[in-house]
Amino acid sequence: MAARILDGAAIARTIRAELASRIQAVTARLGRPPGLGVVLVGDDPASEIYVRNKLKAAHESGVRADLRRLPATATLTEVLRIVEALNESDEHDGILVQSPLPRGLGRGAEQAVFDRIDPAKDVDGFHPANVGRLVQNRALLTPGTPTGVIELLDRSGIQIAGSRAVVIGRSEIVGKPTALLLLHRDATVTICHSKTPDLAAVTGQADILVAAIGRPWFVGPEFVKPGSTIIDVGVTRVTDPAYAKALFAGMPDRLRGFEMRGSAVMGDVHPRCGEVAGAMTPVPGGVGPLTIAMLLANTVKAAMAAIERQSVRW
Ligand code: NAP
Repeated sequence: MAARILDGAAIARTIRAELASRIQAVTARLGRPPGLGVVLVGDDPASEIYVRNKLKAAHESGVRADLRRLPATATLTEVLRIVEALNESDEHDGILVQSPLPRGLGRGAEQAVFDRIDPAKDVDGFHPANVGRLVQNRALLTPGTPTGVIELLDRSGIQIAGSRAVVIGRSEIVGKPTALLLLHRDATVTICHSKTPDLAAVTGQADILVAAIGRPWFVGPEFVKPGSTIIDVGVTRVTDPAYAKALFAGMPDRLRGFEMRGSAVMGDVHPRCGEVAGAMTPVPGGVGPLTIAMLLANTVKAAMAAIERQSVRW
């Protein structure tokens, strides 16, 4: 039987509609809309698209979003100065620095920049203070993609408590926080990575399998427990024709689509997993839209928390 497709785009629309009244309330209370400062350094094409989508979503939702751009030649000091200015700004409740930063900024630059963001405005949830709170299950601002994964599961009626969940990937931005959020929801969680032996034997036990690897169609049906739920976080744009030909062997329609567009956006999970799983997310249209919805939700949360802090002070 074919797996149920979990429509992340529809769920994200619902969440954004639910946010509307809170955005109105914040706007009325502050006399200005919730504000998000977005920092983009360099000209990475994928980052350009991500930032454009985030700005568009914010504007559509009544969240003020301001882009601060710096060239790829910018120094770390210049980036930190922009972050400091947004930290001090009365107009911005949230700050997002688009990752990855240009390599020219040097090793450790990304961490240095994330560390400088005021934790109360850290809508990506990457500041060590917010990571610590996440570990202790008392975070207000949790990373967007992992939080989106939980929303997607909840709103699709997938039971998390008591399930066995396996997360492939241990990055700071997706794998680890997703595993922690699942743990806090009473799943029994295993984290896998590139050194995990016999991966399929581990993932084959998962009621919920989250793939956050970044390798197109890496997860095949042999990884999947029958009837389970698969969340495909992976997004890779394939542009190499030879690679595409190998991936799409025996799939003439997909290959034609690739040839027409010159690229294909691919998840980590092979579509044939749908013959084994009970439910799975598509790519695109699965986790991606939730990531943006959660960014908006975090901006609103940060604004509401700031209002609360002010009223306590008054
Ligand atoms: P990352 O930092 O590169 O981490 C990838 C993880 O996959 C690492 O932990 C790595 O293990 C593991 N891995 C690599 N090869 C493996 C293998 N053969 N077997 C098992 N594990 C393997 O990537 P990321 O930032 O977490 O992102 C993961 C994917 O999610 C990417 O495709 C990214 O574009 C996508 N993403 C999507 C969204 C969205 O909104 N949809 C948001 C963020 C990221 P090691 O630690 O051992 O190297």
